[in-house]
Amino acid sequence: MRCSAIIVAAGSGVRLGRETPKAFIELAGEPLLRYSMRAIAALEGVAEAIVTVPAAMERRAREEARLAGLEIPVKITAGGSERQDSVRIALELTNAESETVVVHDAARPFAPPALFQACIDATEHTEGAIAAVAVADTLKRVSGNLIDATVSRDGLWQAQTPQAFRRAALIAAHERAARERWAATDDADLIERCGGRVAIVTGWPMNLKITTPADLELAEAIAKSRLGGRPERG
Ligand code: C5P
Repeated sequence: MRCSAIIVAAGSGVRLGRETPKAFIELAGEPLLRYSMRAIAALEGVAEAIVTVPAAMERRAREEARLAGLEIPVKITAGGSERQDSVRIALELTNAESETVVVHDAARPFAPPALFQACIDATEHTEGAIAAVAVADTLKRVSGNLIDATVSRDGLWQAQTPQAFRRAALIAAHERAARERWAATDDADLIERCGGRVAIVTGWPMNLKITTPADLELAEAIAKSRLGGRPERG
C-alpha cells in the first residue's frame, strides 16, 4: 500500500520561550525535526515525505532531510497559520497514487518507526488509525481553582501522532472542514465528524509532545537514556 508521510513542523517556539522555531530547537545535539525524519526514513512503504516549516526555513529543512538519511522524494513547504492549515497545505502536495497518508508532529521526536507502521497497517479496515494511550490519571473538571466534578476515565484515551488515514477520506474531511469552518487540533477529529471510523493503536508513553520548557528538559533526559535515542528500523 503506497503511503505519503506528512511531518508538520511549522510551529513557532513561543510556548517554549524561544525565538528558534520549535522543530529546529536541538534535543541532545540534533534538531527535533531530524528525529521524525529519521523515523520516516526507516519505513519501507513510505514513498514520499511532505514537510511544513515556517517561512524561510525551507533550506534548513532540506539539509535536515539529508542528515536524517531521507532518500525518498521530500517536498518542503511553508506551513499555514494553524496546524490544521499546515496539514491541508501538505495534503495538497501528496501524490494522488498514495492510498494512505500518515501525519506526524515534529514536536514528538520519540515516535518509533514501528508505531508509524502499526497506524498505517491499521487503516486497511478503517478510514484512520491513531496512536493513543489510555488515560491513567484521575480527571477533574475545574472552574476557577475549585473542582466541579470527577470525570470517569473509563474509555478515555490521549491522542498522539502518528495518525494514518485513507488519503481520499482525509482530503474530503479537510475540504469539508474548510467549507464548514471546523477547527480541530488533530486530523482524526475531522474524520470522526465526517462519520469515518478511526481505530486506536496503543501508543508509547515516551512519545511525548514537546510544548513547554519542562517537556524539553524531560525529553533531553529521555534522549540521553536508552528509552529515547535513535529509532530502530520498523
Ligand atoms: O503547536 P503545537 O505543538 O500543538 O503543534 C503541533 C505540531 O504542528 C508541531 O509539530 C508544529 O510544528 C506543527 N504546526 C504546524 N503549523 C502550525 C502550527 C503547528 O505545522 N501553524
